[in-house]
This record gives sequence, structure tokens and C-alpha cells, in this order.
Amino acid sequence: MTEEIFREDAYVKSCEAHVTAHTEDGVILDRTVFYPEGGGQPGDTGILNVAGGTQIRITQTLKGKGDVAGSIVHLIEEGVELPAIGDSVTVELDWDRRYAHMRMHTLLHLMLSLVNAKINGAAVGAVKSRMDFDLGDLVLDKEHLTEELNRLITEDHSVRASWISDQELEERPELVRTMSVQPPTGHGMVRLMEIDQIDLQPCGGTHVLSTSEIGRVKIGKIENKGKHNRRVNLVFDND
Ligand SMILES: [Zn+2]
Repeated sequence: MTEEIFREDAYVKSCEAHVTAHTEDGVILDRTVFYPEGGGQPGDTGILNVAGGTQIRITQTLKGKGDVAGSIVHLIEEGVELPAIGDSVTVELDWDRRYAHMRMHTLLHLMLSLVNAKINGAAVGAVKSRMDFDLGDLVLDKEHLTEELNRLITEDHSVRASWISDQELEERPELVRTMSVQPPTGHGMVRLMEIDQIDLQPCGGTHVLSTSEIGRVKIGKIENKGKHNRRVNLVFDND
């Protein structure tokens, strides 16, 4: 198991750790600040600093599968010798990329609060993100939606995580009814992300602490991707 520092504090940019295992093309550490690909958010990239000053590129971060399930795998650039098991290392995030993911990811939660439709999927990017909705007869007004998003961002709502047990969720069906994403059960505990007065969803991703950190945004193209699927593109508005 890898201690997941990013779940408690998404703003930690680096940490010291020990190598606990190797995979074919990566290393497993006892703790990490690197988010593994999942939930529509890309895996983190960055640097692995090894004793003696060697720097190795971490090209992708994934959840371990099979006999390394529960661990986080840091994939290493090709042709580089892996640090030995037991070695002390420091890992350092590509922070600008990750922070953009945190801002974008939080923005997607704001969208969920504004669009009353079933979500088919989402993908967070550092420059552009997208959300797929089954809109039915609902027509989205791009300009109005952009205004509403920027209003919620400017209003500076706080964002916080909490954990709730499967049993508590079962006892509070009204909570689940408001969620666009159904909470996964069977893990004992579910992580909930709440944007104060705006949105509550089960989510394991990384988010900013306040909506104002997102900055100005705009809705890009809305694409027709099949009878029951409209793809909404979201970008940072740097103009
Ligand atoms: Zn989230």
C-alpha cells in the first residue's frame, strides 16, 4: 500500500519516500504526492531524485493492478536504471500541470451544479477539459453558462473533502439524490467533495481549496457525439 498524501492535502508538491518495489517499468514508493490516473483526471508527472543527485523523469502515474493493487506505480523514462528497493528518494511534481488539473477538476464540479442532466463521462486536461452529457431535449446556452460559471468562481466558495461510511450514505438517501455521480459502495468509506452551497459529489480527485483559484473560464465548442451525447469543452479564459 502507498500512503496517498494528495488525498489529504493536494497542495504538497514534493515528499521524501522509500522505494518498496519495482514493476516492469516503474517504482512503487511507501508514500507519494503523485495522483494516479483515474476518475477522468490524468496521472501526475515529475521528477524522482535519487541519492547522489541523479534525476529521473516520472512519465506517468497509475494505480497498481494484480499483486500490486492498492499501490501507486510511478512509470520511469525508458532506458534508466531504477533505484534499488529500500533507497531513499524525493519525488517532485510538475506542479504547474497538476495545479491546472486541480483548477479544471474543480470547474467540472461547478458544471455539474449548473447542468441538470446525466453525465456520461469527463476528461480533465491542463489546457482543455470536456464533459459528456445526455441532455435529452435540454439546449445549453454557452454564453449564459459561461457567465454562471464565472459568477460561481468569483463568489469564492470553499471546497472541502470529507469521508462518509456506506452505512451513513444508506441512511441518508436525500444526499445521494442530489449527486450526479453515484457513490461507489463496497469500500466501507466514500470520499465526498463539497463546494460550499453549490455541489456535493463522491470524488477521489484533486481540487483547489476555493473556487476563486480556478480563474476565468469559458465554454468552448459543444459537439454532437451521438443521439444521447453532447460534448461540452471547457477552457481557461486567458484573454
Ligand atoms: Zn472531483
